[in-house]
Amino acid sequence: MASDFVVETSNAAEFPRQATFDDMGLPENLLRGIYAYGFEKPSAIQSVAILPLVRGRDVLGQAQSGTGKTGTFGIGLLSRIDPTIRATQALVLAHTHELAEQNFNVIREIGKFMKINVVLAVGGIPRHINARETRNGAHIVVGTPGRVYDLAQSGDLRFNGLRTFVLDEADEMLRDRFAEQVGEIVKIGLPESCRVAFFSATMPDEVRELADSILHDPVRVTLKTADVKLEGIRQFYVTVDEDSWKLDCLCDIFEGLSIPQSIIFTNTKERAERLHHALTERGFPVSVIYGEPMTQTERKKRMDDFRRGTTRVLIATNLLARGIDVQQVSLVFNFDIPPFEDKENYIHRIGRCGRFGRKGTAISLLTPAEKDVLDQIGSHYDFKTIALPGDLKGVIE
Ligand code: ADP
Ligand code: MG
Repeated sequence: MASDFVVETSNAAEFPRQATFDDMGLPENLLRGIYAYGFEKPSAIQSVAILPLVRGRDVLGQAQSGTGKTGTFGIGLLSRIDPTIRATQALVLAHTHELAEQNFNVIREIGKFMKINVVLAVGGIPRHINARETRNGAHIVVGTPGRVYDLAQSGDLRFNGLRTFVLDEADEMLRDRFAEQVGEIVKIGLPESCRVAFFSATMPDEVRELADSILHDPVRVTLKTADVKLEGIRQFYVTVDEDSWKLDCLCDIFEGLSIPQSIIFTNTKERAERLHHALTERGFPVSVIYGEPMTQTERKKRMDDFRRGTTRVLIATNLLARGIDVQQVSLVFNFDIPPFEDKENYIHRIGRCGRFGRKGTAISLLTPAEKDVLDQIGSHYDFKTIALPGDLKGVIE
């Protein structure tokens, strides 16, 4: 696994790379949870970025998709929890309910021997339940900005005991409407003793500046732009003269292959819905997920079915582009390519396969104009894509 990190800190010698979890000075019942979860040794990012969190430094952590950032901030923040104090000591924000729930499950599981309460605070959960849980002093709150702000505003969730504040998918969280919401949350007031940690696979310069203005003397673990992509994912493209040919093209691929668990990304929910309809009509068993107006209950059901493998092909908007970890996914389609301004999402989308060193394949269906965009994205991140061969055997392993 690539691990060519640039570690910048005021004193680099203070944070040597840790080869084992045992060397990190973690509480015994946290270590037990880590091993019980199935982690044997730290991944590259974990070996450099957990220790600064444990020792109470702010962290800006960048590492490729699927390399264990959740474990990094999860273990880091768990190490700073005092189970005997009934106050919210860690807050983790993510941009979608799906990712918040996934983070919640990982943190709860790794911390399961610590006798702590971890709460999922997202819009899909009845507000009064969240309010009660946070008033009772949940040790850790994992959620999305909307619900968390709401709970903080009403005083149900208090920040005065906070020791760690984490933004997952930080570059997304520091942009546009999320930036505003996160700003409102931060304005409520993080206590002096609260450390801040930002994690993402991508960290564009314009966001990095904002991040730097919030972080206090951070330990920065970053990747060079050319190292952001994942070597384990083979990237193919197919060009079609007209957008309307993409459907046939996709069906041809489906017929030529035994399709593994995969995600098909579109740029809009309308296109996701239309594709779902068209593929279903042709007899392919596929599911679809997107944000509003799809209800929370429906989203959760479709996500759960996909995680269980009950549905094997899921059409999705960028709702699932970032963070979602389903290890069995080994194929990602781009039915549309994201615009160049949104190039990070290309990297995040294809990063839904090839998790934790596994092999993966990405196939993008492109009009000539989209092919130009993919070429531009490729030269930005220094990767090459190959035309999908006519004989698909061997393309997908
Ligand atoms: P990222 O947030 O960097 O994209 P995740 O935190 O979602 O990646 O982790 C990707 C996958 O790798 C998950 O399935 C996770 O369980 C697994 N993983 C993470 N750290 C380790 C480890 N130290 N040992 C084994 N598996 C790990
Ligand atoms: Mg992640």
